[in-house]
Amino acid sequence: MIILISTVLGPVKKEDLGVTLFHEHIVVNLFSADDQEKNYSTEEVVKYILPYLIEAKDKGCQTIVEATPLGLGRDLEVLVECSKKSGINIITCTGAWDGSNVRGKNVPKAIRESTIEEITAVWTKEFEEGIDDTGIKPGYIKLALGDEGEIFPLQEKLLRAAARTSKKTGKVIQCHIWEAFSLPKAVQIIEEEQLPYDRFIWVHADGQMDIEKILEFGKKGIWVEFDGIGAVEDFTKYPPAIRKLQEEKLLSQLLFGQDSGSYWIKEDEEEWPLRPYARFFKEFVPYCVKEGIDEELITKIITENSKRALSLSQNH
Ligand SMILES: [Zn+2]
Repeated sequence: MIILISTVLGPVKKEDLGVTLFHEHIVVNLFSADDQEKNYSTEEVVKYILPYLIEAKDKGCQTIVEATPLGLGRDLEVLVECSKKSGINIITCTGAWDGSNVRGKNVPKAIRESTIEEITAVWTKEFEEGIDDTGIKPGYIKLALGDEGEIFPLQEKLLRAAARTSKKTGKVIQCHIWEAFSLPKAVQIIEEEQLPYDRFIWVHADGQMDIEKILEFGKKGIWVEFDGIGAVEDFTKYPPAIRKLQEEKLLSQLLFGQDSGSYWIKEDEEEWPLRPYARFFKEFVPYCVKEGIDEELITKIITENSKRALSLSQNH
């Protein structure tokens, strides 16, 4: 059976995703969701981003899971051009972002004021009919919550809507949770929603690298994403954690991303340098190999695991 995965240029066969980085950004807009205007041109972003995408492609990257939902700067026109010009598959998302301490700032008012069922309907429609009138379908659901050590009512509403959307569509939820302390509460909510554990990815699990929680919840069946690879100063925390997951036979639930990029739209003038997308291949893989991690394991994670996480609907 041919299984197709939605990218911004249309469906591709899951086998054609190849080497997939699971968490990158191309444009991020830090203005409030209801205050975002496109005060940049698609051309200038593409010109800025393209060399870094081409560098990653030359190093073997075939697919990028773009992790920026509506309200944080999702810009389909930019993603389409970047994909066309680089030859990299780009997968976009539905969902909403309420990470850090923004308290709803990046969640559009229409979503903030909707019920769980209304949000579920909006997100499900994007999977079924495409986003707005573009015909472009998302590949997964992105969320961010729990960074202040608790899950606020808005965040709980978003998580329940994501769980219900996932149950309707089969798509996986990538959930940013920096503060490991918030994970049990999030998982409790998805349990109440009776969502299968493998529909939930703990994004930024490597932020605090709380190995006890990683193992405890990994054993329940959730995915664990190590995605700070583009941002960390050094990689010392990774090989021991990868080995531990291997010992516990949990490597099949690990995903890799870098949180790299991006073209930043923000209020202050401070320069935020772009984090190159090729770092994974140029620095992280050689470092892990030097530390005794089998390169084949890494390849399997960025091909087989990524592909499985994106094609769950067909597995249930
Ligand atoms: Zn991110």
